Amino acid sequence: MFTRRSFMVGATALSGSLAFGARGQAAPADRLSTLSDGHLELPADFLLPGVPAEARRELGIETGDGAMLSPPCNLTLHRSGDRLVLFDAGAGSNFMPSAGRLPDSLAEAGIDASEITDVIFTHAHPDHIWGVLDDFEDVAFPEAQFHVCRTEWDFWRSEAALANIPEERQNFVVGARGRFDAIEERTTLFDAGTEPVAGIEAMAAFGHTPGHCAFVLHGLDAPVMIVGDAIANDPVSFARPDLLWGADQDAEAGAATRRRLLDRLAAEKLRFVGFHLPQGGIGRVETEGSHYRFVPGA
Ligand SMILES: [Zn+2]
Repeated sequence: MFTRRSFMVGATALSGSLAFGARGQAAPADRLSTLSDGHLELPADFLLPGVPAEARRELGIETGDGAMLSPPCNLTLHRSGDRLVLFDAGAGSNFMPSAGRLPDSLAEAGIDASEITDVIFTHAHPDHIWGVLDDFEDVAFPEAQFHVCRTEWDFWRSEAALANIPEERQNFVVGARGRFDAIEERTTLFDAGTEPVAGIEAMAAFGHTPGHCAFVLHGLDAPVMIVGDAIANDPVSFARPDLLWGADQDAEAGAATRRRLLDRLAAEKLRFVGFHLPQGGIGRVETEGSHYRFVPGA
């Protein structure tokens, strides 16, 4: 957890010694890694309302009264030239006790928050943006430039955001607006189809939220896709990509986006990172008939 004091003590302890990857989460030559922000605890019936009992049994998913899912949260860190780019900012301390571990993961990787030059957001749900502020409401990345898709920015600030979101999620709107206000002076809005940072292509992956974006990193040996929450559950998103997902604000659009991204990942054999996928979230897709399988670490 960040506080003004612990941040300063931490910065002093780390100064001068720790290049990117020095603690082994990523070798210096590896310019892509993930950092854990912990995990979420969510009712299975909220996430999987459309999964029939037979499919649940087949996929080994427990549902019913009280069944919980614990999706991990993986933030992608990418060194591109002189930029150190973080995708999303984690949940911070106020969303769920099981999430908000990013400051510890950064310290374990030997990275000071002030080294992050850019934070690019996939979308503005709490587990992705609330961590942009520390417990003192200070911006947690003191040197960073922030990048938000214009469609996403406009949605959360619109009247429609409050009007259309269920009551139990209205704090998502308040939370997103508060974070946007705090980072506004250092935020650049981008459009899908452009490069918010050189070599990082933003793609519309709408559905999970109205302005959710995926990204393709072009500066590595081969392109890597950051899919955010567009493909968010293993095994359901892969085995039954067309099933409607409870966490998608527009479930039909979310399913269409998921299918489109999976088709491309499979056809081009791309490595990708999923924010809520297991084992660090990096992997590839394997085709199994008309559906897919996640192959972690490949
Ligand atoms: Zn998420």
